[in-house]
Amino acid sequence: MDSHRHKAGLRPRPAIGLSGTSADPASTQPLNAPASRPSVMQAPVLVLNATFEPINVTAVRRALILMLKGVAQAEETNHSEVHSTSKAIQVPSVIRLLTYRHIPQQSRALSRKNILLRDRNTCQFCGFAFAASELTLDHVLPRSRGGRSSWENLVASCYQCNNRKGDRTPEEAGLKLQRRPRPFTLHTSRQLMRLIGHRDEKWRKYLFY
Ligand SMILES: [Zn+2]
Repeated sequence: MDSHRHKAGLRPRPAIGLSGTSADPASTQPLNAPASRPSVMQAPVLVLNATFEPINVTAVRRALILMLKGVAQAEETNHSEVHSTSKAIQVPSVIRLLTYRHIPQQSRALSRKNILLRDRNTCQFCGFAFAASELTLDHVLPRSRGGRSSWENLVASCYQCNNRKGDRTPEEAGLKLQRRPRPFTLHTSRQLMRLIGHRDEKWRKYLFY
């Protein structure tokens, strides 16, 4: 259990279920490789709009589907290949949508996935990073006190902190929020993309400007 925990900030943990950021460059895998295997298919891929503006991070598996559908093309690849039935495809590191997609500000839906993404899979009370399955959502002001389900009132919490807090405010429970919860903005997304991509040289020119 403890081996899965590390203090947030020491190593940016690619939350969002994108484990295995550094794929073995020599490996090749079939497109239908089992999802349970931490593999090339889960490695993060930067998604650019048609205008080269970074808009998202996805997994290799999804990026390949977008490419095969003709929705996106690879801008950068890494050194590994995957094989579909007929051909070998270079694994993308950065893809670009072929038609421009309008991304409204604050288009992120309020969802468990996005709260965990915003909080980088880090319990906002104890500050440790966890697997998504080990985190729950906590209403900072409990629902029983009129606390709403909103960006400002929902945070990622480990079960231990969540149990300790119970139906109380953080102050009452002797817990302190790591930071004030805020809506997920495009700015937040950029920061996250940088964190996830800081080890991938090929992302840099699209993210650091
Ligand atoms: Zn905790």
